Amino acid sequence: MIVAAALGVATWTLLEYLIHRWMGHDRRFRRTPFGIEHVRHHIEGNYFAPTWKKLIAAAIYIGVLAGPAIAIAGRADGCAYVLGLVGFYGVYEWLHRREHTHAGIGAYGRWARRHHFHHHFVDGRVNHGVTSPVWDLVFGTYRTPSVIRVPAKLCMAWLLDPATGQVRREHAATYELR
Ligand SMILES: [Zn+2]
Ligand SMILES: [Zn+2]
Repeated sequence: MIVAAALGVATWTLLEYLIHRWMGHDRRFRRTPFGIEHVRHHIEGNYFAPTWKKLIAAAIYIGVLAGPAIAIAGRADGCAYVLGLVGFYGVYEWLHRREHTHAGIGAYGRWARRHHFHHHFVDGRVNHGVTSPVWDLVFGTYRTPSVIRVPAKLCMAWLLDPATGQVRREHAATYELR
């Protein structure tokens, strides 16, 4: 069951990449519900799709995957797989929001923000993974950010020093305002 749950987590990281890259950033899918929400997230910076839409997405993942997973792996492993996948979808949603609302803690937290804000503010065609770099590496869309130039009107609150209106000193080597 642990292996099945881990496979579910791994499957989510792939779905996270594919949904973001194709439904979020391919012109052919711009008018899908995800595409519309994602374009708005990029334009407004601090906009996130409402929770009820995320719950519908989770219900769709469960509805589509539970039958085949149980048919292939049996009830226990099939359920563990789907729970791993949907549970990690929840982790992804939480982490993505935290990236926008809170400064990163530790090497992973700082990496995740730089990876994601390179995607937002430098090149929207790369760094589609949010929780991991794995699928960007596999599909050749991984870029290591240099200094990330953030538009002032989209700047995250955690990056800004309210006293100076500039990037906080601890982030000045890795982020700039433009
Ligand atoms: Zn995007
Ligand atoms: Zn984002």
